[in-house]
Amino acid sequence: MPLPHEPITIHGGCNCGAMRYRIDVPSFEQRPLHFVHAPEEASDPTTPRLPLICICHCNDCRSATGSILPTWCLTPQEMFTISCLPKEEDDDTAMQSLRIAPHDATDDAQRPPYVPAHGILSGVESTSGTWLRVFCSTNEKVQGWDVDKRIYRSFCGRCGTNIAYLVYPMPFRFRDMIDVVVGTVDRADMEQPWMQPERQLWHNYGVPWIKDVVKDMDGPIHPSFSTAEFIRR
Ligand SMILES: [Zn+2]
Ligand SMILES: [Zn+2]
Repeated sequence: MPLPHEPITIHGGCNCGAMRYRIDVPSFEQRPLHFVHAPEEASDPTTPRLPLICICHCNDCRSATGSILPTWCLTPQEMFTISCLPKEEDDDTAMQSLRIAPHDATDDAQRPPYVPAHGILSGVESTSGTWLRVFCSTNEKVQGWDVDKRIYRSFCGRCGTNIAYLVYPMPFRFRDMIDVVVGTVDRADMEQPWMQPERQLWHNYGVPWIKDVVKDMDGPIHPSFSTAEFIRR
């Protein structure tokens, strides 16, 4: 189900509370089209806007998230801010046995400020001093791309929760995105019916029985990342 048209904020964070984030979604008219669509497609109400919540069937997302149905909120980077608890220099204990911060937004006033995250999630700015960790999982030449393909996956270094995925730089001058792991969204927001994935991506690469699990889910199915190509409309 697509997001409601009025402005909303989606809240979430890692399992231990060291990472908290917000996705501040403007009203429908101010949301950009998905980056593969041309501006003239804005008049078509079926053209997807961002953020967009979808399932990815690709092998890379499955193993990186440890989930058979990785689900992403494809988010323009400027809508995403993060608050990371500081990590003391000598705090390298192998095991942390307590959830130290609450698992929802109740403690947000006591936290470090929420700041733009694209710089740190793309490895441009240092994450040192916080629990955030970034792993560049792919760095390869892809035929037809105008830049080397670099995929950054970020996670909490204290509890291990996978927070986000991004490609930087984006190919073909597509807008900078942060794809957020939907499983990290707070329960109160997750219960909203519009948090349900509205599409499936990379279907051509999926595992047959996993695709069967979600075959009756409403919404378009796409062979790869492009929402302009369809297996089912
Ligand atoms: Zn954590
Ligand atoms: Zn994927």
